[in-house]
Amino acid sequence: MKVKHNTSLKSFNTFGIDVNARTFIKAASLKDLKDALKQNYSEDLFILGGGSNMLLTRDINATVLHIDIKGKEVLEVSEDHVLIRVNAGENWHDVVLWTLENNWGGFENLSLIPGNIGTTPIQNIGAYGVEIKDNLVSVKAIDIQTLEEVEFNNEDCEFGYRDSVFKNKYKGKYIITSVNFRLTTKNHKLSTNYGAIQEVFKQKGVSNPSVKDISNAVIEIRQQKLPDPKILGNSGSFFKNPVVSIEKLTELQRIHPEIPFYKISEKEVKIPAGWLIESVGLKGYREGDAGVHKNQALVLVNYGAATGHEILSLSKKVQKKILKHFQIELQPEVNIF
Ligand SMILES: Cc1cc2nc3c(=O)[nH]c(=O)nc-3n(C[C@H](O)[C@H](O)[C@H](O)COP(=O)(O)OP(=O)(O)OC[C@H]3O[C@@H](n4cnc5c(N)ncnc54)[C@H](O)[C@@H]3O)c2cc1C
Repeated sequence: MKVKHNTSLKSFNTFGIDVNARTFIKAASLKDLKDALKQNYSEDLFILGGGSNMLLTRDINATVLHIDIKGKEVLEVSEDHVLIRVNAGENWHDVVLWTLENNWGGFENLSLIPGNIGTTPIQNIGAYGVEIKDNLVSVKAIDIQTLEEVEFNNEDCEFGYRDSVFKNKYKGKYIITSVNFRLTTKNHKLSTNYGAIQEVFKQKGVSNPSVKDISNAVIEIRQQKLPDPKILGNSGSFFKNPVVSIEKLTELQRIHPEIPFYKISEKEVKIPAGWLIESVGLKGYREGDAGVHKNQALVLVNYGAATGHEILSLSKKVQKKILKHFQIELQPEVNIF
């Protein structure tokens, strides 16, 4: 177990915000994790995975526990499925590539999402019509107070849109240590309805796509659309796409007949937050080193030396303008500390 004091977190968050951690512990094994919890359980703990879903607005006056437990294994192979266990510190995209090498299906649409395995269930990561809940069997975690090891099945996780029990009633109570997934080994259930994926297949003449073809298309689209955090600090979509009632949509359509939406139930639709931000003229807007990305308005970026406060204040400006213009309250998808 490695312990450091007063250390910068700049390289541990994809926004590249330079704040300090009072104490920084890297837990590379379950034993490290338990030892750290035994020593620090009464103190404030700040759990860190890949740092790709957080905006740090202040020094972290607590023990930052970086979950770096590596390892993955095949638990079971059946007629057309495989059951795998992956430890929390594995990088998500590396795991996606490993499954594709084996021609297992399920993760292809979620290619190139940054972050670690242990965090994937927390916000039920999703992209291009697929969410982690679709292939997740169970989650193992440690109770921070009692050090008891517990297992949650898919239903226990109460998954929703970018949401789970770990963001709600169990927030701050558990540290996720590993996740089990079931993937297909044949008869893959492909999800290729998204226009952008269809467009890539058309260009490349792909008519009978494999899971690898889908992953390649998703990677190509994401590389064109989203800024690479290694080059331009960001945390992906800063806001969730708002869900509104059909009545509210009808009201909006009177003034904005072109408003895009996706039906999610008989009563509700989801509106792309990026479209709303673009419509109020904030795409590409910049205040110092804090900005709204020039190609994807849903992404706030750090051009170099922005502080967490500056990004937060920009995000509030965006929220205020959307509220005034559309009477819609945008909610952050990113965790703000
Ligand atoms: C360029 C870019 C694109 C993105 N695209 C998408 C996308 O398409 N879809 C999507 O869903 N997300 C996307 N994201 C967001 C992000 O990648 C995911 O939310 C990811 O799962 C975060 O993982 P992380 O390990 O980096 O989490 P972190 O930022 O380290 O942590 C996030 C939260 O989880 C807590 N936490 C971390 N590890 C654990 C653990 N083991 N146990 C308990 N709590 C823990 C932290 O305390 C924090 O509150 C994108 C981000 C970027 C930068």
